[in-house]
Amino acid sequence: MFNAETITNVANAAYVVAALLFILALAGLSKHETSKAGNAFGMAGMGVALIATIVLAINNKIEPLGLALLVGAMAVGAAIGLWRARVVEMTGMPELIALLHSFVGLAAVLVGWSGYLHAEFDPNSQGALELAKEGMLGIHSAEVFIGVFIGAVTFTGSIVANLKLSAKISSSPLMLPGKNFLNVGSLVLFVALTVWFVISPNLWLLVGVTALALLLGWHLVASIGGGDMPVVVSMLNSYSGWAAAASGFLLSNDLLIITGALVGSSGAYLSYIMCKAMNRSFISVIAGGFGIEAGPAEDKDYGEHREITAEGAAELLGSADSVIITPGYGMAVAQAQYGVADLTRKLREKGVNVRFGIHPVAGRLPGHMNVLLAEAKVPYDIVLEMDEINDDFDDTAVVLVIGANDTVNPAASEDPSSPIAGMPVLTVWNAENVIVFKRSMASGYAGVQNPLFFRDNTQMLFGDARDRVNDILAAL
Ligand code: NDP
Repeated sequence: MFNAETITNVANAAYVVAALLFILALAGLSKHETSKAGNAFGMAGMGVALIATIVLAINNKIEPLGLALLVGAMAVGAAIGLWRARVVEMTGMPELIALLHSFVGLAAVLVGWSGYLHAEFDPNSQGALELAKEGMLGIHSAEVFIGVFIGAVTFTGSIVANLKLSAKISSSPLMLPGKNFLNVGSLVLFVALTVWFVISPNLWLLVGVTALALLLGWHLVASIGGGDMPVVVSMLNSYSGWAAAASGFLLSNDLLIITGALVGSSGAYLSYIMCKAMNRSFISVIAGGFGIEAGPAEDKDYGEHREITAEGAAELLGSADSVIITPGYGMAVAQAQYGVADLTRKLREKGVNVRFGIHPVAGRLPGHMNVLLAEAKVPYDIVLEMDEINDDFDDTAVVLVIGANDTVNPAASEDPSSPIAGMPVLTVWNAENVIVFKRSMASGYAGVQNPLFFRDNTQMLFGDARDRVNDILAAL
């Protein structure tokens, strides 16, 4: 009924529809209210893209074995993806995302390698002769080389990010002697090898650049310390986009180029916003902590801390007129958001002005706290960003720091030698009373002690955040 040309045209039109759906997905995901719709657009776009790709493959007379492998790989991938998505905890999302980025990187390396072996390795092969005839050999070689490089950096970089975020390796920065020289030198070497490869493609150069990029990816991310990891995750997201775009050029797949460019540029922009929010130099962070040296290991004595009971906290809250809650990663671990939402409702019913202060990198992924609070049905209008609320702590009777640590650390603004110096923080210590919910005196993600815990107006409420919030609810 349809000839091959019509099918190709329809499939290409479907690619344009998918690209538009991806743009709508990004637009939707930028606001709480529309984020569900954004997700739905993204899923629909991916569905359209997958169907169009399979139809195109059949139309291009894919061999039965190839089709069986394609469908088989998709079925296995979909089953694993569905299972992981069902079982992953919200707190495990960042490391899962880092792992997914590593797959994109690995795929780009494999596409690059197969592009080389298929069309360039044997200069007398049909692919090589066709490229030579069209005068495209040099461009193809550059696409292979750049795609493999970006893919391999993304692959090992994302694995290190996964290991750091899941606490399987230390989050502190690796400080090899001459680390800046290693990074810059690798980039210069890459440019030189690319020129060489374009002039005379050969297998050993490709092996060399793959090894170089794998080591560089590892070193780049390993060199970045705990506090800068949020930027690293979005930076790797961006790299994975560029790796996919490079694969799109090699495979002559327009949708992959568009999607890769969308992910690449939005990831880069997110990294830039996060760097600005954390007062970090964008260039320094993407260059593997360029110019950042490790601060001296600190062993300061901050004195004694004070403790409070849940009943004591309930009493303080009962007599307060204004309360600000600053949640952090510990609220996510304890899944305390539902209790926190109940506590908020109860206090508001008593006429207390309750608001939330959200630090841009609280938790382990951008928007982590907003998602948890929305899940527990805390009204959006009392959830404020750090900049909107930071001046209000002076007039606040009680601040509840629920499982936050680095994001409320006064050392960031007061101690220039601190590894998190310069990072803007929630100035909770300006309130009349601060109650810190955590299980011990352990440090936060960046591994630095928090002088807030030893201030005169701070009291520690030890234990699992969910249990303590429930105790306060009972006491109220
Ligand atoms: P932190 O990671 O600094 O601290 C969390 C605190 O929660 C810990 O000190 C821990 O103390 C406490 N905690 C853990 N489990 C529980 C529990 N069950 N009940 C009560 N308390 C608990 O949190 P922040 O949110 O303040 O800061 C986020 C950090 O993560 C920043 O350094 C940021 O740079 C980094 N990061 C952020 C990303 C992002 O995109 N948002 C991505 C990657 C890293 P204790 O063990 O004593 O209970």
